[in-house]
Amino acid sequence: MALDPRIEAALNAPLRAGASADSIVAPRARVPKGYGGIPGTGPIGKSCSDCRACEPTGSDYRDWICARPRRAWERGTFISRHTKACASFEERKRR
Ligand code: SF4
Repeated sequence: MALDPRIEAALNAPLRAGASADSIVAPRARVPKGYGGIPGTGPIGKSCSDCRACEPTGSDYRDWICARPRRAWERGTFISRHTKACASFEERKRR
């Protein structure tokens, strides 16, 4: 049984026109809102609570912010102190 030429042409066409091995890349990781970088890209075993940029917003030490978000409108967004450190990590000085 002969196939319709249009169906045969569709079956023989490449699955994604214009796609090559170079154009298929992994999705870019994004910096979460309020953070200075992508969590987990900093020193191993360190978290935001060990970083100088991690600051409390009030005297109750409940809410924390990062002082180094790239975008100005993200400043003041609460972060988790337990997040793995990012590439902008700077060791907090202990007394
Ligand atoms: S490691 Fe430091 S600079 Fe990076 S997100 Fe945490 S507090 Fe901000």
